Amino acid sequence: MNYIELVRGELARLREANTFKFETPLQSAQGGIVRVKGKDVVMMASNNYLGMANHPVVRKAAIEGIKAYGYGAASVRFICGTQEIHLELEKKISAFVGTEDTILFSSCFAANEGFFASLTNEKMGCDTYKDVIYTDRLNHASIIDGQRLCKAETTDKKIYNHADVAHLRQLLEEDKDKEYRLKIVATDGVFSMEGDLAPLDAIAAVAREFNAILFVDDSHAIGVCGKSGRGTPEHFGVLKKIDVITGTLGKAIGGAAGGYISGKKDLIAYLRQKSRPYTFSNSLPPAIVCACMAAFDLLTKDTTIVTRLHENTAYFRKEIAALGFTIIEGTHPITPIMLGDASLAQDMSAALLKAGVYIKGLWFPVVPKGEARLRAQVSAALSKKDLDRALNAFEHVGKKLKVI
Ligand SMILES: *Cc1c(COP(=O)(O)O)cnc(C)c1O
Repeated sequence: MNYIELVRGELARLREANTFKFETPLQSAQGGIVRVKGKDVVMMASNNYLGMANHPVVRKAAIEGIKAYGYGAASVRFICGTQEIHLELEKKISAFVGTEDTILFSSCFAANEGFFASLTNEKMGCDTYKDVIYTDRLNHASIIDGQRLCKAETTDKKIYNHADVAHLRQLLEEDKDKEYRLKIVATDGVFSMEGDLAPLDAIAAVAREFNAILFVDDSHAIGVCGKSGRGTPEHFGVLKKIDVITGTLGKAIGGAAGGYISGKKDLIAYLRQKSRPYTFSNSLPPAIVCACMAAFDLLTKDTTIVTRLHENTAYFRKEIAALGFTIIEGTHPITPIMLGDASLAQDMSAALLKAGVYIKGLWFPVVPKGEARLRAQVSAALSKKDLDRALNAFEHVGKKLKVI
């Protein structure tokens, strides 16, 4: 069959099913206010939680990084792509999240893809063995894909209901007498569709009880959750109690690119040998490495930016609910505004853009049928005036479309 015919047919089906993703190009840098279609609008859809995507200190560090270390590393890490700044950034991340060591990847997607199979597909001196992974039903695509790389012969995969510690416990209990070599519990720290946090204190206790490795992907939490932005472990008071933490440098921490795995020194040393996206993919470019160090320095110096993010979030959540919108309650800047109907979510996001707010809708199959929503993301880059401008637009459009 002609492949382009097949592809066209599928594109038509995606449009028909309303699952086609439209890209709306920005004509400016990422920020609290962005330029779209020649108009300045309030950005409420980005992962730029701390406004570091265009922060003067972060920009300057990126430029200085190029000046001192060039544009590209032109190698993987173990050949000649390790510059001293890569090691420095790894140290900074370890210090920030409270682990022994850290290994950088080109993205968190790559980090997650490189984690699970590097353990479960390796004999490590065991002739016969079986490992098991317990994974939250709503875990990120990169965790799912990472686990797909684990060989079925040696890895059992069990899905527990979303954030359901009792169910996780039940699965672990059922397996108590099985002779698994490794048990891994894997969860997102923050789930991006609901903006809810995994109950890490309870999950950590259960993992410890059953001697399982706890893996937490804190991509939406690094720089966001906890008083000083150290993530969900800080929020739940379990800093240093998580075995493996992964995260992205593409959200709050500058928003460009990069990911990491943090954990015990020997685990990280092992991953440098065995993790394929690390071994066979290029080093992070110096501009990104230096900018990320500046971002962590800003965060470590004082908590002003994180505090502003938390204040903005509390304000927006309170005011949007006061207008009569139904939101999923919580504390995270991700604020799902529930609409139900997919076409309503589409109409509302289009009307809001005209009214000066950039926000996107989510609908089936990304969220369950009948649970279409707009996902607002609050940022420290937004001033009170920006937030009020957005809230006014929400009120106006919400009334016009009879949502409130
Ligand atoms: C965004 C995200 C990723 C992907 O991070 P990249 O660095 O953009 O690849 C992975 N996991 C979770 C939970 C995320 O939210």
